[in-house]
Amino acid sequence: VDNLRSNVIRPIDRGVVHQICSGQVIVTLSTAVKELVENSIDAGATAIDIRLVEYGSKLIEISDNASGIEESNFEGLALKHHTSKITEFEDLGSISTFGFRGEALSSLCALSNLTVITRHKDSMQKVGYKLEYEHSGKISSKTRCARECGTTVILKDLFYTLPVRHREFIRNLKREFHRMINVLYGYCLVVNGVRISCNNVVGNGGLSKVISVPGYNTMRERIVAVFGSKQLNSLIEIKQSDVVSGEILSEFGLSEDAYERKYELEGYISQPNQGRSSNDRQFFFINSRPCDPAKISRVINEVYHTFSRSQNPFICLHIRTNRENVDVNVTPDKRTLYVQNEKILLAILKATLIPIFTAAASSYQSVSSQ
Ligand code: ADP
Ligand code: MG
Repeated sequence: VDNLRSNVIRPIDRGVVHQICSGQVIVTLSTAVKELVENSIDAGATAIDIRLVEYGSKLIEISDNASGIEESNFEGLALKHHTSKITEFEDLGSISTFGFRGEALSSLCALSNLTVITRHKDSMQKVGYKLEYEHSGKISSKTRCARECGTTVILKDLFYTLPVRHREFIRNLKREFHRMINVLYGYCLVVNGVRISCNNVVGNGGLSKVISVPGYNTMRERIVAVFGSKQLNSLIEIKQSDVVSGEILSEFGLSEDAYERKYELEGYISQPNQGRSSNDRQFFFINSRPCDPAKISRVINEVYHTFSRSQNPFICLHIRTNRENVDVNVTPDKRTLYVQNEKILLAILKATLIPIFTAAASSYQSVSSQ
């Protein structure tokens, strides 16, 4: 009490800082699962199996068949800002992995009970290790065990170290679970050749298969695998327009000669009048990274609503551009991206969508008038 009254500025205990910051990196069930899936993809997995107990509140387990983790990396694995993905600040410009901040495992470790089972592909002994970690990120136990090459990360009782967050998580469990599934759909739609499954075990052993998609190499096949061919049949392919009219450019405050083909679009969107009542199936990717680009989403939805006022489009849109045009390091979850000259991109989107919707709408007008 004396210390509190004395107004002395002093450092917060390191363990406390770690707890505080970890809660900002891993905010929800979705972020936890997303980080682990990204780690598996970064490590080169072609199969990722996710198993949840009680919608993830009791246990989250993610297994992959990737490279595994070398024994020399066990110590640093769950330590803050320890990563194998970048060493220099300049590396950020050319980053091709989902991760680079070295925060996910250390944060998850502070917020739950973390166990890692792994066998590295070059391991001479042909066995794996089971590692348990303290909340601080130190190894608390290490034993040998049988394991194929790859890694399993197990989180028990996510958020139990943050009582308020934990209560909210349990209270909104099903909603959080559905959000998480939607985040997983994003990875299923964008990642090439990775088989992904997700199961949820509830009550006395009831198991539901939530996701099971083989690893296809085209977006079209992946949409069918996740949402079925009926969904695909209601969509039109987004074929990028090579011209952007002066009118559209000036709507976005751009001069007539501002247009540059800096962005490549690939994707599918609902035909007018074949949309959905809710906007729950809208997936955006920039350079293969699932993200939530507010302005891009707004422009697309606005254009769609001029053709189909009361519906919302299914959207699966992949935008590719040079890595230098995007800053992914805006928020810890990397779902907010800064896109350079975003207005040009918005103008391209609008110029691309209007003719596509116009053609689709006139094709069923002519069908229905026959
Ligand atoms: P980041 O992904 O930003 O590097 P993380 O905390 O997510 O940070 O992971 C720390 C490190 O642990 C990674 O850089 C990687 O070397 C290793 N790692 C994590 N998950 C896996 C996995 N599934 N397979 C192989 N290595 C992994
Ligand atoms: Mg990571």
